[in-house]
Amino acid sequence: MPHPKRQALIDKYGLNQSTDETLNNLISSIAQLFDVPVAMTAIAQKGHFVFQSRYGLDIDTSPLEDALCVLVLNEEKQVVIPDLLEDERYTESHFAEKRPGLRFYAGTPLVIEDVVIGSVCLIDTKPRQLTEQQCATLHQFSSFISDHIALKREHYQLQNEHSLLDNSPAVMLCWRYENGLILQSVTRNSEDVLGLSHEYITTHQQSFESFLTQASQEEFHFMIQNHLSGVETTEIHLELSNTTRRVWIRLLSKAFFDEEGRLLTIQAIATDNTEQRHFEKRLNDANRQMRLLLEASELGTWDYNTETDHTQVNKRWCDIIGVDYEFYDGSSRFWRQRIHPADLQYVNKKIEAHLKGESKVYSEVYRMRHENGSWVWIETYGRVVERDETGRALRLAGTHRDITERKLAEIHQMKQSQLLGFINKARAAYLENHDLSNACQKILPELIDIADSQFAFIGQIVFENNKRRLFIHAISELSWNSASEALVELYKGRKLYFDSFDNLFGETIKTEQTVISNQLGSHPASVGTPKGHPPIYRFMGLPIQLQGEITGMIGLANKFSNYTEQDAEFLKPLRDALAGLFYAVELETARLEAENQLLRMAMTDPLSGLNNRRAFLEYLGSLSQDEISYFVMLDIDYFKSINDRFGHDVGDSVIKQLGSVLKESIPAPHFTARVGGEEFAIVLHEQSTESVTTRLTKLMETIRHTEFALPNKSSVTVSMGVAAYTCDNTSTALTQADKALYKAKENGRDQIAWFEND
Ligand code: GH3
Ligand code: MG
Ligand code: MG
Repeated sequence: MPHPKRQALIDKYGLNQSTDETLNNLISSIAQLFDVPVAMTAIAQKGHFVFQSRYGLDIDTSPLEDALCVLVLNEEKQVVIPDLLEDERYTESHFAEKRPGLRFYAGTPLVIEDVVIGSVCLIDTKPRQLTEQQCATLHQFSSFISDHIALKREHYQLQNEHSLLDNSPAVMLCWRYENGLILQSVTRNSEDVLGLSHEYITTHQQSFESFLTQASQEEFHFMIQNHLSGVETTEIHLELSNTTRRVWIRLLSKAFFDEEGRLLTIQAIATDNTEQRHFEKRLNDANRQMRLLLEASELGTWDYNTETDHTQVNKRWCDIIGVDYEFYDGSSRFWRQRIHPADLQYVNKKIEAHLKGESKVYSEVYRMRHENGSWVWIETYGRVVERDETGRALRLAGTHRDITERKLAEIHQMKQSQLLGFINKARAAYLENHDLSNACQKILPELIDIADSQFAFIGQIVFENNKRRLFIHAISELSWNSASEALVELYKGRKLYFDSFDNLFGETIKTEQTVISNQLGSHPASVGTPKGHPPIYRFMGLPIQLQGEITGMIGLANKFSNYTEQDAEFLKPLRDALAGLFYAVELETARLEAENQLLRMAMTDPLSGLNNRRAFLEYLGSLSQDEISYFVMLDIDYFKSINDRFGHDVGDSVIKQLGSVLKESIPAPHFTARVGGEEFAIVLHEQSTESVTTRLTKLMETIRHTEFALPNKSSVTVSMGVAAYTCDNTSTALTQADKALYKAKENGRDQIAWFEND
């Protein structure tokens, strides 16, 4: 009967090997003891019995059904047949046929793990009896063989384990503690793993330390101390000395204690850690090389730990902003405080986005304050180098590069084109309407921006009564009290002048030099600001010059950092442009003046200084009919005789004198002109004929009492004709006035006559 577990057991115990020398010897002893010609062990497997050990038998296997041992297997107990010929199990089976001549069989089960796997049997060719004692002995032999089989397996297993251990990369060590460690055992692979032979280690069983380097001995003692104080397991790394090669081991140790907690033994597993150490060392070397490379490349490095809010930086990082490396405290506050206020929020946003995983790298250009007060442009690149299981960033690391020089050049270039841009704008604004103040006001905000300043003004020097004043074209509108409000009003009305130059800005005018003051009140010319005026921390005055002569100035105040000569140089194109504009205005004014002069000359009668005939006719053209006005024609009485009696020159001087009288007596908005030799025309804008009469009567009186330059001191009289300008055109009114004048002459002269319709 096949047993379900039997084959598995046979495999497990390695019983498929056909011979076992030890058992062979035992079996032959049993045969001799029982005095039988044949004895063997029969182990059943896969339809056969295998006779693992045998005596007096020349076959090593047999089919199950051909062997008497099958009886033991089936009945699972000892079978003794004293005479086979008298037993039906033999006679009625085909055993007799297959094994003829057999007369005696005794078999006892061979049991492993409670399963009958075969039998130990004795065979004889003659019938015989077994005593009870002999049956028991056979049983004992059987169980002895079972034990042997089990032990043999265990031995094999141990052998296997040992061979595993021998080839294992781990060396097992066990120490006993008796006022010191005494090595009890060590596996044989020590040679391979540690480079120390098993014999060498075991002969130095009390001094494991002697295999270690100085530093590692301390580590080893540390481990012992730990275990002595009750620590159960430790892990240390040791470097071995005394070996042909450099060996690092990782030692995992476990301590065992007695009931009172006293250290009894320490078991340990040592594995070769050299590779990893080399790797670590290479990594460290690589890191060091990387550091050196970073130092050489002038890169600052930073490594920010989000958990601890601590940033590790290198020396170069500190050097860039002039901070003592020892002084840097690693907090993010330290770093943030030094960022330019205008850049801080951009930096924060970028970092946040990157920490959240929204960007592949964190990169930004921003300003940091140098210890010397200047701003350093930093270009930073970084990325998250460690995250926890949930993806939260733990470390963010990167580099800093000082790009100030490049950035300043860029900014300078950008500012220069911006400057040229707004210079052109100023020119265009000026050309558009020839309004210089407006042009200056247009560019003032941009000037403030480009000069990084808070306040600015643009002034032009003007001369009045040989006194220099600074006319303010454009200024930041500042008002802090009623007096300053009045100044703003003056400015808006384009009447703001700075008259006193005994102050900081005036120093620019007086010295005709750039004036820089970067500390409040530090300049000798500084007289302070009026009460309530926003403080001026820094000031720069730039002269505007044309051909070496100062014609105006630019004032700038409160730059974020110090004003420098470079700033002055930078704004040179603007100063030149303003100088040009000031000059253009000067030319333009002169040209206009000349033009007006010509015009005046063309419209003025040179002798009387009054308007001439042409001016009179032009004036008539400009008159509106809506206005009530009166036309007066005036002619000197008996002028011909003056000429005749005293000469033409005297006549001329009378005309000239009369011109002055008319000019004074008939002021604007009335109009007076000399229209002929000794004929004058007057246009009066009076509300009534009465007021016309009053004014003209007064004029007659004045003329009559004027002392003309006549040798005989006689007086000069005039006649006047008046007509109201009520009709369609001026020539009609003129004709009417002429008619009235004629009437006045006719009526005896020295009188006023009104035009009357016939
Ligand atoms: P009446 O009172 O009628 O006006 O007498 P009158 O002598 O003034 O006569 P009339 O107006 O005809 O004479 C004008 C004279 O004035 C003629 C001319 O010689 C003279 N005359 C015209 N223009 C000038 C001038 O520019 N200078 C001088 N000295 N004489 C002039
Ligand atoms: Mg006359
Ligand atoms: Mg006349």
